[in-house]
Amino acid sequence: MENGLRNPSETTGKVITCKAAITWGPGEPFVMEEVRVDPPQKMEVRIKILFTSICHTDLSAWQGENEAQRAYPRILGHEASGIVESVGEGVMDIKKGDHVVPIFNGECGDCLYCKCEKTNMCERAGVDPFMTVMVNDGKSRFSCKEGKPIFHFLNTSTFSEYTVVESACVVKIDPDASLKTMTLLSCGVSTGVGAAWNIANVRAGSTVAIFGLGAVGLAVAEGARARGATKIIGVDINPNKFIKGRAMGITDTINPRDFEKPVHECIREMTGGGVDYSFECAGISEVLREAFLSTHEGWGLTVILGIHTSPKLLPLHPMELFTGRVIIASVFGGFKGKTQLPNFAKECMQGVVNLEEFITHELPFEKINEAFQLLIDGKSVRCMLHL
Ligand code: NAD
Ligand code: ZN
Repeated sequence: MENGLRNPSETTGKVITCKAAITWGPGEPFVMEEVRVDPPQKMEVRIKILFTSICHTDLSAWQGENEAQRAYPRILGHEASGIVESVGEGVMDIKKGDHVVPIFNGECGDCLYCKCEKTNMCERAGVDPFMTVMVNDGKSRFSCKEGKPIFHFLNTSTFSEYTVVESACVVKIDPDASLKTMTLLSCGVSTGVGAAWNIANVRAGSTVAIFGLGAVGLAVAEGARARGATKIIGVDINPNKFIKGRAMGITDTINPRDFEKPVHECIREMTGGGVDYSFECAGISEVLREAFLSTHEGWGLTVILGIHTSPKLLPLHPMELFTGRVIIASVFGGFKGKTQLPNFAKECMQGVVNLEEFITHELPFEKINEAFQLLIDGKSVRCMLHL
């Protein structure tokens, strides 16, 4: 069948055997193996993944950066798109054949958090890096051919031709949209643009500094540009990122390695005292401190997007907050995925955010190890794997 989607009337309710990229240990090459994917249970959805890209969070998990989160064998991957193969009991809003993006930070719609407009956390399906099984029965839907269970990752596990996720983690997308570009909304672009729009609420005419110009940082730049920020300073130790950055809203660039003085001093000089907003998109403690100090006293706002290894604490003295600078962190750009992403997808289709620019490489799924190397080497923004 088209796109490798097997005829759902033949697979519904049955175990599907398909290919997945398995992680067997920290930093060990992905192994392409046949896995068994169980049918979706109550309030679950089974998706035929068509595209998956690689986010730095996959890289950190693969390297086993956070020891407490190590679990093997595991199917990583959380930025993807696909077509619904079948749905489990009770799923009303999603049906087979729907074009969807899975989201690692779900929205059940029923819990205390989902009912509160101040947060995009969710009690049932919110992001939980320690979660390795389905919430329904505490079991995995993946197994090796010999029957050994394979762990889930970030509610999604998209490095597999088929995956099973909570329906709270599935967002329906306009079938006219290109699924390849919509894949980016599954994590990186929504996280960055959402941080600029929903968390910082960047104003027209304001100044912004972005630390780390991967997909997340570049998405912040796109979001800030769309809101009319006039100065958007991109900070990265990899000067190759500046070329892409300039095509995506960055107006000024700083490579910290070109200066003896700390970056925040350069930024304060360039902006008459500091930027209105800074975004930390590298997940490095020292970088976070620079981002914090580069905002203007009195009103500067720093948004943390990078995932930091534990057990590091905030690199600040509490008294430093008396300068009026504010610091906040954001998961998934503050978007409530199920209710707000469809509209964001529409805006992207209208060209508010230039999605194409984020896709720097495309490879067949089998070349996943090569795709990881591109991210490690700082060569790719997003490498789209075709399943
Ligand atoms: P990426 O690897 O594509 O980009 C990171 C960038 O940071 C690279 O360009 C790198 O050169 C740069 N960098 C490294 N050290 C630096 C330094 N000292 N100073 C300045 N720049 C430096 O990663 P990405 O996929 O864009 O993800 C960025 C971060 O955001 C990661 O920590 C990732 O885990 C996290 N993340 C968070 C969320 C969320 O919901 N909060 C979602 C997605 C990703
Ligand atoms: Zn991600």
